[in-house]
Amino acid sequence: MRHASWSRRGFLFSTGAGLFVAGAASAPAGESIPVTAEYDIIVCGGGTSGIPAAVAAARQGARVAVIERYGFLGGNVAFSIMPCWHHLGDHHSGLLTQFAQQVEAFGVGPAPLKEGNHIEPEAVKILFLNMATDHRVQLYLHHFITGVVKEGNRITTVITESKSGRRAFGAKCFIDASGDGDLCCHAGAKFNLGVQGETQGMALRFRVGYVDFDKFADWAAGQPNDLSLGDMVKTVRQGGGKSWGKAFYFGSRLDRRYDQVRSQYPDLPSNTYFNCSSIRPNELSINTTRVYKLDGTNADDLTKAEIVMRKQAWAVWRFLKENVPGFGASVITETAIQAGVRESRTIVGDSTLTVDDGARNREFEDSVQTCRVTFDSHDQQHYETGGNKGLVDVPFGVLLPQGLDGVLTAGRCTSCDHLMNSTFRRMENSFQSGEVAGTAAALAVKKGLAPRHLPVAELQAQLRRNGFKTCQKDRQKQKRT
Ligand SMILES: Cc1cc2nc3c(=O)[nH]c(=O)nc-3n(C[C@H](O)[C@H](O)[C@H](O)COP(=O)(O)OP(=O)(O)OC[C@H]3O[C@@H](n4cnc5c(N)ncnc54)[C@H](O)[C@@H]3O)c2cc1C
Repeated sequence: MRHASWSRRGFLFSTGAGLFVAGAASAPAGESIPVTAEYDIIVCGGGTSGIPAAVAAARQGARVAVIERYGFLGGNVAFSIMPCWHHLGDHHSGLLTQFAQQVEAFGVGPAPLKEGNHIEPEAVKILFLNMATDHRVQLYLHHFITGVVKEGNRITTVITESKSGRRAFGAKCFIDASGDGDLCCHAGAKFNLGVQGETQGMALRFRVGYVDFDKFADWAAGQPNDLSLGDMVKTVRQGGGKSWGKAFYFGSRLDRRYDQVRSQYPDLPSNTYFNCSSIRPNELSINTTRVYKLDGTNADDLTKAEIVMRKQAWAVWRFLKENVPGFGASVITETAIQAGVRESRTIVGDSTLTVDDGARNREFEDSVQTCRVTFDSHDQQHYETGGNKGLVDVPFGVLLPQGLDGVLTAGRCTSCDHLMNSTFRRMENSFQSGEVAGTAAALAVKKGLAPRHLPVAELQAQLRRNGFKTCQKDRQKQKRT
């Protein structure tokens, strides 16, 4: 049995007797860990991009495992109770199409899906679980990734901590789908963290149930100068928010109300971004808490974020209950499991997708997916929502961490500049990057190549055979046929 061993010193080395890795300050020097299991591909993170990555690789015949810190799959969609898949309707391609069909079959989103874009996040946990088990993906839940072993530049082993203690898992190729780029960071990858360390604000979403939508709508209709509620009122009148995916948002100016009563609710967030949607009858999913200048990869900052935003959530609810008609009998039915991190590390890749690429809707020969250019950057000074709403090609090199072998990224930690990341990070783009990374990893393993040496034309051809649109031209072809 292969063994991996830990050294205290913060770097990696290999000896004839075994592999040595550093990372955990508490690890005894030279501790030897038997490698629990070896796979063709290990996906680190069972979230929005990780599960499509695992399924795509398994479909190519690879032996695949997913390592996930929580006891459920779905990533930020599940733990931030995220319903809104922005451009799902027009992005249908490959596995995303199959996922959309499952959503319809389960009755947990609009049918047909392109008529709405909100999916019940609780259902994503079981849909992702089914996708993984249907494709014989081995799951390691409750495993937190804490380190890696490398041979030269190649990651060979990932180290985890769990109830079972410290463990090691080997693979021919890894996919970092951890959102924060944890795996690549442990391997010494170069990364960026927002703009000079300042990332988008975090948010803790929560749900408020037992809202009387009719009462709320009556009141809102009489407040045209106070709230931008037009669409919401219309939706409430049409269906009381009772039909799946008929999301409604209100409005940007609830802060005027806040200002009148703010002194009574000292924990109210200071920002003015107030966003609600509804996918359950008489329940609102609220996205309005906010902290800035905290780092989502720093446990102390995450602790501060939880303390501040949990208080904010309850203050917002109290404000609604005591000031807005329709909320009198309401209760908080759920808060997110953790502070939602919109932006943290982006791992520097062989290529980086930039805001200039987006502005010019660039096409690339080595494009492997497309991304819609609609920015969504919750910066403290300025909330950027622009973008030309067209598409940009995504070159394969963004998934290949510079200076590392045997690993691809997928999802939010993929190589983009700050503003481009604000659109690439979205669920439909993250999901699709997972399918690309999984397909590439499986082809690379089959051919015995490092992912960056995989002929990109072969990857594109395989993706197209799976019904995946690899570039803008592919999508135009689809429109014409
Ligand atoms: C508040 C908020 C609102 C948002 N709103 C929208 C929106 O309206 N529309 C939209 O499209 N997108 C939205 N997003 C963005 C989107 O949800 C995420 O960017 C996307 O889901 C990221 O996918 P991912 O696969 O990269 O990461 P995730 O889905 O977060 O998956 C990462 C997985 O890795 C696991 N993991 C992390 N570290 C470790 C570790 N060390 N060991 C083991 N497992 C680990 C996590 O538990 C998780 O399951 C929002 C994000 C936030 C925070």
